[in-house]
Amino acid sequence: MQLTHKIALCPTPEQVDYFKRACGTARRVWNWALSECNRQYAAGDRPNAMALKKQFNAIKYTDPQWLDENGRPWLRDIHRDAHAQPFAHLAKAWERFFADLKKGKEAHKPRFKKKGRCRDSFYVANDKFTLNGKTIRLPKIGEVAMTEELRFAGKILGATVSRTADRWFVAIQVEVPDAQFYRRRTSHGVNGVDLGIKAVATISSGEVIEAPKPLKAALRRLKIRSRRLSRKLEAAKKAAGFERRARLPEGTRLPVSNNRRKSAAALARLHARIANIRADFTHKLTTRLCRENQALVIEDLNVKGMLQNEKLARAISDVGFGMLRSQLEYKARRYGTQLTIADRRYPSSRLCSICGWKNEALTLSDRTWVCAQCGERHDRDLNAALNLKRLATVTALPVASPTSNGGAAAGMAPAVVGKVTPVRYDGGHQDTSGQEENRAHFCAHS
Ligand SMILES: [Zn+2]
Repeated sequence: MQLTHKIALCPTPEQVDYFKRACGTARRVWNWALSECNRQYAAGDRPNAMALKKQFNAIKYTDPQWLDENGRPWLRDIHRDAHAQPFAHLAKAWERFFADLKKGKEAHKPRFKKKGRCRDSFYVANDKFTLNGKTIRLPKIGEVAMTEELRFAGKILGATVSRTADRWFVAIQVEVPDAQFYRRRTSHGVNGVDLGIKAVATISSGEVIEAPKPLKAALRRLKIRSRRLSRKLEAAKKAAGFERRARLPEGTRLPVSNNRRKSAAALARLHARIANIRADFTHKLTTRLCRENQALVIEDLNVKGMLQNEKLARAISDVGFGMLRSQLEYKARRYGTQLTIADRRYPSSRLCSICGWKNEALTLSDRTWVCAQCGERHDRDLNAALNLKRLATVTALPVASPTSNGGAAAGMAPAVVGKVTPVRYDGGHQDTSGQEENRAHFCAHS
């Protein structure tokens, strides 16, 4: 099983300079290879990134576009992993594109990387670096201090150095033994989780989880800093003779003042801080959910579709539902939690969790409603969570016992390890198997 540990680095200014050049190299090689691939694709061929790598290796120290102003091949200054890896990544990106195309899914061709807009990173193969406590020895630049030691023991597969705002990180991929991958659960609940706008998560146990407060404060600050930066940008446009709010012709480079640079850096740091707060929150929440439950049910939120709804978009991207879902998926595997993703059409908000009556008139603004059939008063989110919980028992549950939690303690292979089960909704609420048992359960509950 593979785990990745991302560790912050404390590089010297010279090392930062190398990192930047290595990222620039990786980006430039990607763009070179992509434009070749696009040419092959336009000519009706299937792009072959790995063949391009051979082609690139043949010219990289001689072709004029890869020589500096003194005619020296500057790629020699950068370790070769940084300029070899983009080909593998590109090959994967094309594979994904053709696979999606074949499946009839929305397919995206790989895109060019733009300085300042793309993620800055470069790769180092496992035989090219060594770890020694809180230092990592990287090719070309030697030892770089890390803020902590590698947490996992196992076979090291590779590392990626990347930048977020003005900080540098190394993400080390490790093949860990099963005993380290699987974690012990502390309890064995069965819960539905309604993800929402008002509360981030409402658990069928009745617990309501709100977004962290620092996030709201930081988002307010974000508005202020973005405004400051855009004022400086407008000023630069005006100084260059453009109209206010004018769209600049492609390729225009405005002079960057020191204040604008500082302002942009402050904004980037704040973005990174917000991302950290979000990630910290979702990590703690998803770990807890998986640690305490043997079965979880969430909705299959169509995040992309929801983002098109402007009003919802703000709130949704604030908590990062996409991140929440993917964390749940991989942690469910680690804790042996059965994760069920409810079908998109399952009307979890509209159904009465007591009697199954469907409230067709429910609107987004209704926070509570009364069932016309059984008279129960429902909190919208809790009711949805209870309906989701119902789906957990459609598929067989593993028996709740201390050793069923992935077998970490017993040292054996788990029976059900984080199986992700998509559940189809077939229209009727009454014909869901396990319904009788559920209803008895919920009646006793209320
Ligand atoms: Zn009812």
